[in-house]
Amino acid sequence: MYQPPLPEKYRHLSESEVFERITQARDTLGRRLIILGHHYQRDAIIQFADFTGDSLKLSQIAAEQSQAEFIVFCGVHFMAESADILSAPGQIVLLPDMTAGCSMADMAEIDQVEKCRRYLQQNPAGNMTDINPFIPVCYVNSAAAIKAFCGRHNGICCTSSNCRDIFEYIWNRNPEAVILFMPDEHLGRNTAYDMGIKLQHMSLWDPDAPDGNIPPDQLGQSRIILWKGFCSVHQEFTPEQIHRAREENPEVNVIVHPECCFEVVREADYSGSTATIINTIHNAEPGSSWVVGTEMNLVKRLTAEMAQKNIRVRSLSDCPCLCETMYRIDPAHLAWLLDELLLYIKAPDRVKLPNRITVPETLKQDALKALETMLDITAAKVK
Ligand code: SF4
Repeated sequence: MYQPPLPEKYRHLSESEVFERITQARDTLGRRLIILGHHYQRDAIIQFADFTGDSLKLSQIAAEQSQAEFIVFCGVHFMAESADILSAPGQIVLLPDMTAGCSMADMAEIDQVEKCRRYLQQNPAGNMTDINPFIPVCYVNSAAAIKAFCGRHNGICCTSSNCRDIFEYIWNRNPEAVILFMPDEHLGRNTAYDMGIKLQHMSLWDPDAPDGNIPPDQLGQSRIILWKGFCSVHQEFTPEQIHRAREENPEVNVIVHPECCFEVVREADYSGSTATIINTIHNAEPGSSWVVGTEMNLVKRLTAEMAQKNIRVRSLSDCPCLCETMYRIDPAHLAWLLDELLLYIKAPDRVKLPNRITVPETLKQDALKALETMLDITAAKVK
């Protein structure tokens, strides 16, 4: 994942020069190019996005836009990998800055996951049999190798929008199945709890301990095993912040993302995926006040949009809850990458295109299975 240093000239371009370059490149590339922008991207990037959305929506768009030769993904590495897995043959996926990773995705490495699987299968107290097998479910915020692991072992991918649908699908087919959920413990716990699973029937797998740090008797009564991983942005929100917001304004509505910890989600009035947060606030009553527990760029955009409707929106935290890796995608990197793309289309045999995201073929089929199963379940639910 090498990121070449940004050439000097791009560091000194004015805002309008960067804007000009990006606009010209987009005009030249026309329908050959689409730019996808995740909701957590800064406004200076979102203005260039052909499509904006959360992980689920952008995955679906990547799968649908088969006419575009080049997909520039303004998001983080795992999202661009998903786009590459779902894209049509011949489509090229690019990430403006290769250092835009995700600390949560990095918390589940394939060797650790394989070790966990071997332990769960061999440990009789774990009670994993053909009747109650463990089914791996990975949050889309995971590396391609983890998605491929899920595809290989009859597992499924999920997003925060459809996590409950995926759990329901698995438990409706086999109520005895034990779900291994990776890599965000909070999304798994919050979703399972909402479905009526008691906390004592959930275990937390610590990948640094040989036995996951789960006592065998507890493992034996687990309905879901949660991977010990978290989002560094959403982990920052606390119940005390909610109490303070209510002291300041007893009428305030609190909405948080399910990547927040259990105590925060229980204390909030509402919780839901990025799409749910946006829809809920867009449909709020004029005059209402909202504090939001999610990434700062999205909250700032909602604050500006909702001011016209007299809906007050602010962050749950006073500190800027910014996803620093998302923030690495800036207009200068986008301008540089599009210029490289213009050079490439003139001489594709001679010019090497930087920042291309290519999931190895050995992983692609299995990862695709996990993602397509998720998209099929979601589509069936919508019908
Ligand atoms: S907000 Fe959290 S989960 Fe999303 S990309 Fe940033 S670190 Fe990863």
